[in-house]
Amino acid sequence: MRAVVFENYERFPSLTDVPKPEPGPGEVLLRVAGAGACHSDVSVYRHFKEGQVGAQKPPFVLGHENSGWVEALGPGVSERVRIGEAYMVYGPIGCGHCRMCAQGKDTYCENAATMPYAAVGLGRDGGMAEYVTVPAHHLVPLGDADPVDAAPLSDAGLTPYHAIKQALPHLEGGGRHALVIGLGGLGQIGVQILRALTGATVIATDVKAEPRAWAERNGAVTVGAGERQVEEIREITGGRGVDAAFDFVGITPTIATAAASMAQGGRLTVVGIAGGTHEFSFFTNAYESYITNTYWGTVGELWEVVDMYRAGQIRPEVERFTLDDALEAYRRLEAGEVFGRAVVVPHQS
Ligand code: NAD
Ligand code: ZN
Repeated sequence: MRAVVFENYERFPSLTDVPKPEPGPGEVLLRVAGAGACHSDVSVYRHFKEGQVGAQKPPFVLGHENSGWVEALGPGVSERVRIGEAYMVYGPIGCGHCRMCAQGKDTYCENAATMPYAAVGLGRDGGMAEYVTVPAHHLVPLGDADPVDAAPLSDAGLTPYHAIKQALPHLEGGGRHALVIGLGGLGQIGVQILRALTGATVIATDVKAEPRAWAERNGAVTVGAGERQVEEIREITGGRGVDAAFDFVGITPTIATAAASMAQGGRLTVVGIAGGTHEFSFFTNAYESYITNTYWGTVGELWEVVDMYRAGQIRPEVERFTLDDALEAYRRLEAGEVFGRAVVVPHQS
């Protein structure tokens, strides 16, 4: 079968033929409906070096944001998993036996350091292919919802959902403000989730005008890039600052913008993995404000994200690519030419 393979560190992936996988014990074979191209893949093949935190040993098929139809069940899989039905894939795979995995938090597996891979499409073959195998208990049923538009939910939906859910206590009550920096795959869905779960005024920013216009249409107030950015954000909040900020870029300047925009007691979550740094001293931050990071989300939260999608509260903006054009999707993602999420659709019928 055709697949997008990450062959080696610091090398653009290739489109090549690999054997069709077979489901092992407890796994299912999925006919891939959609595989989202996440900006983290660019870090995987372009930036990470062997041994670095986050690096996954090549070669493997990319695609950690997947949906598909069950084609076959591996040994021991319950027939409650229905052949032919559409499911989302929860990507992270922990040891399955520690206290984090027991809570569905495979992302924070206590044995991650000794696991051979981190997730479907991160160290183990992913969904940028005609077929993929995944653990059966990592499936979330989609019912009759469109599985192609759903593909981004598995990361671009779940990651902002988890970050926002952790910050909800800061956004309770009237007169609250949330800041979203970076309106790409994750940031756009982040805006929709904030609008659906909170009454906060959502302030959104991106260097590009098109996603800012989209955010305005989706109920956010926007500010442009530029020197007056922090001042403009503070003006919108009546000078108080934002109660929660979500940085979906994560470079030093965006973290600085967010930190300078915080209200006292606010929570700043750095989600972007660009590796920006932030200086901390008694004098640099709003009093009793928090700065933290989050990684992906839990399988239980993916069920909630799918509920929001089925209720029409999350509507991913998707650009579809055939498997033959998958490398073009990555080229455009790197060039900043994708609006919303590029989703590879391996089967055209
Ligand atoms: P994307 O390429 O789809 O979107 C990035 C957006 O940020 C674009 O709209 C771009 O114009 C905007 N942007 C770039 N520089 C900016 C700046 N200086 N100020 C304002 N906006 C700016 O990327 P994505 O797939 O949404 O991923 C976003 C980040 O989140 C990446 O770093 C990715 O690796 C990371 N990520 C983290 C997790 C996690 O679990 N923490 C999960 C998935 C992705
Ligand atoms: Zn574990």
